[in-house]
Amino acid sequence: PEQILGRTPFDLMPPEEAQRVGALFGAIVAEQRAFSGLINRNLHADGHVVVLETSGVPLFDEHGTLTGYRGIDRDLSPAIGALDQRVLQLEALYAAAPIALGLVDRNGIVLNANHALAKLLDAVPVALVGQPVEALLPPAVGRTQRYLQRFEAGETLVEKVMEWAGSCFQVTVQGLRDSGEQLIGLSFALTDITEQQRMRQALAQSNRELELANVRLSELAEKDYLTKLPNRRRFDELLRQEVARGAREGSPLSLLMIDVDQFKAYNDHYGHQAGDECMRRLAQLLQAGLLRPADVACRYGGEEFAVVLPQTAAGSAEQVAERLRQHVHMAQLPHAGSNLGRVTVSIGVGTLLANELIGEGSGSAGMARLINAADRSLYAAKTAGRNRVCLLAV
Ligand code: GH3
Ligand code: MG
Ligand code: MG
Repeated sequence: PEQILGRTPFDLMPPEEAQRVGALFGAIVAEQRAFSGLINRNLHADGHVVVLETSGVPLFDEHGTLTGYRGIDRDLSPAIGALDQRVLQLEALYAAAPIALGLVDRNGIVLNANHALAKLLDAVPVALVGQPVEALLPPAVGRTQRYLQRFEAGETLVEKVMEWAGSCFQVTVQGLRDSGEQLIGLSFALTDITEQQRMRQALAQSNRELELANVRLSELAEKDYLTKLPNRRRFDELLRQEVARGAREGSPLSLLMIDVDQFKAYNDHYGHQAGDECMRRLAQLLQAGLLRPADVACRYGGEEFAVVLPQTAAGSAEQVAERLRQHVHMAQLPHAGSNLGRVTVSIGVGTLLANELIGEGSGSAGMARLINAADRSLYAAKTAGRNRVCLLAV
């Protein structure tokens, strides 16, 4: 008795329970009424839980003022036993879960709320019990009737994402059923996924950046830095493809090798920067001089360009070459070191006929033959006086 005297019944309960029973008892006191069947949990001195059923009657003085309660506690522990211990464990788990959890009845009145939910609403759990959920939470959680209809119609679980109070939540709602499978309310869970969403967005953003970087990288790997034309690497690849295609489709393939005339003298006279600028202009002129989409001008190396002409026989290739030569000539880019006073190019034409592309002519051997043919023609154009097109018979 000396351990009990001078204390309130709530001092003997776990804090959670004290709050819950305190709220219920507060309502009883406000009405100054008698009560019975109030089940409450208390901690035994040795730490185990004792379940009591309490009844009480109010006491009044001669003026009718409430002075206290006289009550009787009945120990239910033997009857409830191990089962209640399990329920207690589950309740503790529910109360302390890091996810906001709540239960509502069919009228949307909160039956239970855990700490995480109360914290979201800046309240304590018992203060939420008895309140309408729609007054506390957004419609994504609060539309009790809508959810009940869906669960009555056979759905078992509804999940959605909700933006609320500056955060993002995953909302999970389930039907709450009694032992007879009757739908008696809803159980809901709110998981804060703001950080995951933020990380997902950041990840999507860096994926986009990575894709762009990859596009840039493959451009860098395939484009000549100075002229922006396909580079030597790309040229090799392209020529290999076209040799194979020519063999497959039985069509001729031509190649133009273009070398700028007396370009060393150009650099010596105007400087290397002007030389670079001239290379860029020539690249534009050559590209503009090609009319078929399949024709591709590449930078072969140094002051040399190569033009791949698929499905083009020797005669047509020679015509294209001549058009390009004139195109450059007519642009009249000044060249003090040249006897013509302007920048000119020499062009060698090489062609492989369909039958030359098949068999031994295919693959690397075909490429080498074609490049060699165009090279020899170019050499002939140079020795014949430059600013001209030459096509040697293979
Ligand atoms: P030819 O008519 O016989 O072709 O005479 P050329 O002077 O053009 O031939 P050569 O091979 O003697 O010299 C080529 C010059 O082209 C030398 C080199 O400095 C210059 N050149 C090659 N690539 C570039 C480049 O990217 N920029 C600049 N500015 N000059 C380059
Ligand atoms: Mg040259
Ligand atoms: Mg050269």
